[in-house]
Amino acid sequence: MRVLILGGTTEASELARLLAADPRFETTLSLAGRTSKPRPQPVRTRTGGFGGPDGLAAWLQQEAIEAVVDATHPYADQISSNAVTACKQLAIPLATIMRPAWQPLPGDTWLTVASAEAAAEALGSQPRRVFLSLGRLELGAFARSPQHRYVARMIEAPEGVVLPRDIKLIFDRGPFDEPAEATLLKDEKIDVVVSKNSGGAATYPKIAATRKLGIPVVMIARPHKWHGHTVEKAEGAMMWLEQRLAHRAIPVSARGV
Ligand code: NAP
Repeated sequence: MRVLILGGTTEASELARLLAADPRFETTLSLAGRTSKPRPQPVRTRTGGFGGPDGLAAWLQQEAIEAVVDATHPYADQISSNAVTACKQLAIPLATIMRPAWQPLPGDTWLTVASAEAAAEALGSQPRRVFLSLGRLELGAFARSPQHRYVARMIEAPEGVVLPRDIKLIFDRGPFDEPAEATLLKDEKIDVVVSKNSGGAATYPKIAATRKLGIPVVMIARPHKWHGHTVEKAEGAMMWLEQRLAHRAIPVSARGV
């Protein structure tokens, strides 16, 4: 079965690993190309946009793809909408890995806002020391709140983004643990963290560290993400693919179609 994984996440890499070990599947992993040195993958990889839903549909047809797994990040809403449109158009089955959102626990102080711009606004007029745990493209929103001192961590340097005047950039791709996150927040004298609600374990230690240190979090809410059949993890997507394979093996007459 020819499978496309829309990737850029831990779950996508995990699913690629599971599929690479199974000769019943021929897999392509697609990356948007946001990082110049992505981690090596055990399956064929393609990089860059498809050119909207029509471009994606054309690519799926050309590659004779039989199933798509959207394993993109919870905040990547455009590609998910494109995947729903293209798969519907071609009647290709689509599953979406929907990573559950983090929920506030006792001791957490979260202010939920709709966007990076709203987060910058929510920081207020008094100067604060802010840790930005965001993608590099979102940093531009904070240039309009120059009264704060920012620390931002990212995989690689932002290009074409106007940064806030007072910002320290830390380049790291993780994983991070809670003690290291707490040390970073303390060393940088951070008094507020801005984060997306990415869900999952990989970036949660910073949230656990804010709880421990009593630091508030401005949490940018998730966008609406269009989806196919939903699963929570790579293993769920693998089971769904196996079911599709079994379904395909049954003759059409026996399926009553
Ligand atoms: P987006 O807003 O949903 O997508 C913007 C455009 O980028 C899409 O229309 C598509 O271009 C292209 N694209 C996105 N994901 C792609 C993929 N896997 N393969 C090929 N093209 C892709 O997405 P985004 O927020 O810019 O995120 C880009 C990628 O980074 C995603 O793959 C996502 O999983 C990963 N990521 C995002 C975040 C985040 O916070 N947004 C965090 C971690 C990782 P065309 O219309 O030309 O096809």
